[in-house]
Amino acid sequence: TTKKIATPKRTREILDKYGFHFKKSLGQNFLIDVNILENIMNHAGIDKQAAAIEIGPGIGALTEQLAIHADKVLAFEIDQRLLPILEDTLQGYENVQVLHRDILEADIRKTIDTYFKPEQPVHIVANLPYYITTPILMKLLRENLPVSSITIMIQKEVAERMAAVPNNKSYGSLSIAVQYYTHAEVIMNVPKSVFMPPPNVDSSVLQLTIRDTPPVNVENEELFFGVVQASFAQRRKTLRNNLTRHFKGTFDKEKIAQLLESAGIDGSRRGESLNMQEFASLANTFYHALE
Ligand code: SAM
Repeated sequence: TTKKIATPKRTREILDKYGFHFKKSLGQNFLIDVNILENIMNHAGIDKQAAAIEIGPGIGALTEQLAIHADKVLAFEIDQRLLPILEDTLQGYENVQVLHRDILEADIRKTIDTYFKPEQPVHIVANLPYYITTPILMKLLRENLPVSSITIMIQKEVAERMAAVPNNKSYGSLSIAVQYYTHAEVIMNVPKSVFMPPPNVDSSVLQLTIRDTPPVNVENEELFFGVVQASFAQRRKTLRNNLTRHFKGTFDKEKIAQLLESAGIDGSRRGESLNMQEFASLANTFYHALE
């Protein structure tokens, strides 16, 4: 265990030993750069008091670092073929538990309760399978898990959308969805060359700090997220037009104009210019009109 897993040579050795072939459909791009991992560890807020959850350990490149820095590590891996490999590569790290599970199906709250000490801070760290980045993240956020932070390697363009501010071309409903639950920050950009095999897209590490309470007061979350989605439905259209289409059958054009005015928002603006507070005021005004 003195030889780190995350080097091209050692990774090659492990893959050869087991005759492992990457499954593209599972987003398998393994990290082969120890510096990137150390950088991630420096940001993830993990110490020997903390518990860590990893999604998709692969052959254990990141898992190994988590095992060294955290009290306990729990890793969810969907690919059965990787379980005996992890058993081998992580031998000697007694604080790691690998569960053969699809993260999208897993009862994460229950596993936290089962495996970690109560009151222990929990950090999620992962080099995510890119084909399901958004479903995984939205599951983690909506379940309101007892987790302090989420540090994830994802597609650069998606990281930029998640962390975007108003009037930026990347700003949209995903920015609002993520920032409603977290403080989001891109902490580094990562070249394709640090993965085996290299992915087709550039990557970034996104650091999400979970908020205790949402940054805005929203009376009805479903309506709020509905208004946000609708406001970005056709990015070049005005708020007035997008909302009229969304509320068709509930509010007519005149009523929409009136509600926009009472929320204090100019209907000729575009969704991309509204901050979260403005979306919240708008949604709350619509909510009261529905009562
Ligand atoms: N953590 C390793 C690393 O950094 O080298 C591997 C990262 S690789 C980008 C993504 C990993 O997620 C793969 O091991 C893949 O098998 C696993 N995976 C894909 N879909 C999954 C799912 N639904 N649930 C759990 N793991 C999944």
